[in-house]
Amino acid sequence: MKHTKSIEAYAEAKKVIPGGVDSPVRAFGSVGGTPPFIERGEGGYLVDIDGNRYVDFVQSWGPLIFGHCDPTVEAAVIETLRRGLSFGAPTLLETELAKEIVELFPAIDKVRFVNSGTEAVMSAIRLARGFTGRDDIVKFKGCYHGHSDSLLVQAGSGAATFGAPNSPGVPGDFAKHTLLADYNDIESVKRCFEASDNIACVVIEPIAGNMGLVPADEEFLKELRELCDANGALLIFDEVMSGFRASLTGAQGLTEVKPDLVTLGKVIGGGMPVGAFGGRTDIMSKLSPEGPVYQAGTLSGNPVAMAAGLAQIRQLKADVAIYEVLQMRAERLVNGLKSAADDNGIPLQVDVRGSMFGFFFNDRPVKNFDDALNSDTDRFAKFHQAMLDRGFYFACSQFETGFISTKTTDVMIDETIRNAREVMGTLK
Ligand SMILES: *Cc1c(COP(=O)(O)O)cnc(C)c1O
Repeated sequence: MKHTKSIEAYAEAKKVIPGGVDSPVRAFGSVGGTPPFIERGEGGYLVDIDGNRYVDFVQSWGPLIFGHCDPTVEAAVIETLRRGLSFGAPTLLETELAKEIVELFPAIDKVRFVNSGTEAVMSAIRLARGFTGRDDIVKFKGCYHGHSDSLLVQAGSGAATFGAPNSPGVPGDFAKHTLLADYNDIESVKRCFEASDNIACVVIEPIAGNMGLVPADEEFLKELRELCDANGALLIFDEVMSGFRASLTGAQGLTEVKPDLVTLGKVIGGGMPVGAFGGRTDIMSKLSPEGPVYQAGTLSGNPVAMAAGLAQIRQLKADVAIYEVLQMRAERLVNGLKSAADDNGIPLQVDVRGSMFGFFFNDRPVKNFDDALNSDTDRFAKFHQAMLDRGFYFACSQFETGFISTKTTDVMIDETIRNAREVMGTLK
């Protein structure tokens, strides 16, 4: 497979864009090689500027549940943009999309739209702080909630409970309000509540997708809910990735636990930049202009983005059986990868939630970030490179989740497995 044009394009990009990319993971840092520059998408495929075609298991990191260039989404976008791209004034589309979300998510009475997942979680945290009058938050190692200051805090040394920033530019004074806990470990959350009586909220990906795919145990979520209630803290489910992916109602469709606030993104924009946060009326009413907690956005609720999101969500609602089909295909894929790995004596952990799938080159089950870090990232990098070279585009890190679209057929999946089997043979 030739990458001449992408190599050239990458060199050009690096002259004017730091690292040549607008989001770091795109640079392929953890797997090596040059990222293919994309010319277009075709349903379940990506085509790069060298003319290479790939089966796409990334789907723009989740949003494109109907694949690239879905005709219904495309038509809605085109119809809307002909009336103008943006007004900075209310439109009917915002209320329509809000109604769909409120109807689907029992935890959401009211919702506000923003432009990215980062903004959604950042705003939800501010609201939780404003509502409770407290400053500290609890997050879990390995969960990603966007790149805002309070949330760009991950694993400190094993014993550290109070967070240290993991990027220069994040003041220690901010980071110290972020307490860290271990995923699926309720004792570590109890320790946070013992260390601080100033905790506004606990924020969690109820199905973690940013340390690879690591679902939370139901019992753990229940205990988390109880702990928040006992301490007057809010529980925030960050469903920017799992929303409309794990099920029509995200992780909330698979658990009995009800959060106080929910953040959404990715799928609700249908590929356009959209985020949202919502929750109970009494909490959401604290938001300006109704309440004192300030939050705003010039392009928020952009009509074209709303139209894309609406078109996608309505299609999903019209055919809920989609999720069973997507899950079956995701299972077909990971079972195939697992059997290919088994036959070559390569330890592999696999999991699926709806249209999300994950696999770790790891000999033990992965329940938290430390487990995930125990994976063989060198082997993953080799696997990734070899598969890319054969025309299969997997997320470029061991710690990302994969996505099935409705355009990812059984035939494409079987072809992927056949190639993965050959590649695994070289990775023993
Ligand atoms: C992607 C993601 C975000 C950040 O969303 P952006 O649109 O990239 O800012 C936040 N939380 C979770 C769970 C995500 O997967």
